[in-house]
Amino acid sequence: MSRLAIILFGPPAAGKGTQARMVGEAFHFPVISTGDILREAVRNQTSLGNEARRYMDSGALVPDSLVDAIVKERLQREDCARGFILDGYPRTVNQAAFIETAFKEGDLEIRVVGIDVADEVLIRRIAGRLSCPKDGKVFNAAAVPGKGGAVCDVCGTPLVSRADDSAEVMQQRLEVYHRQTQPLIDYYIGRGCYSAVDGDRPINEVHESIMKAVDANSGNPCRRNG
Ligand code: AMP
Repeated sequence: MSRLAIILFGPPAAGKGTQARMVGEAFHFPVISTGDILREAVRNQTSLGNEARRYMDSGALVPDSLVDAIVKERLQREDCARGFILDGYPRTVNQAAFIETAFKEGDLEIRVVGIDVADEVLIRRIAGRLSCPKDGKVFNAAAVPGKGGAVCDVCGTPLVSRADDSAEVMQQRLEVYHRQTQPLIDYYIGRGCYSAVDGDRPINEVHESIMKAVDANSGNPCRRNG
């Protein structure tokens, strides 16, 4: 039986991380977030982290070769044997091609769900985004009680604003998304495995639409080129 790769696709702050966790729980699949892996490497000041930081701080993409190596190593672990959720990867057409080469033909069934949210909404969301540095859970500042002392409701760690969520870096990340990542939509539409959901709705409604989209794509795996 082939393993299922559910790719949650969309611009920064579309809700990929939150939705990836929910879909991961529903399928009992691990969630692989390249952003989380890179941030951990930056915190631990590993050589990967120090290299990646230069790109992340300015809102640019980390080079494909670094990110591909991280993903390849992670996907080889036992917990990915039945399937996995990808959050924030692939972000370039080269990365998309790379995942397919990491598995034998027929071993991987890819289903891609795009979360659509307009740029103005994303910019407003980012301005109020706080996250837990330990488990990555994202909060909206307006919804967090208390002033300045907000903590994660799961682990109690004080919440922080991500360095790359500043207005200037967010603008850059959106530009990078439109230029380098959005072309992947046509890439996956061409392969018959892309569906989109409206991400500007309550979290549970978006989740239901994503689950339906994943089901609807069943039996309609990505066609390979060549
Ligand atoms: P995210 O948390 O997914 O928004 O990722 C934060 C930052 O990590 C991005 O702005 C990029 O600098 C870097 N990053 C994460 N995933 C990738 C990827 N697949 N390719 C290149 N850079 C990435």
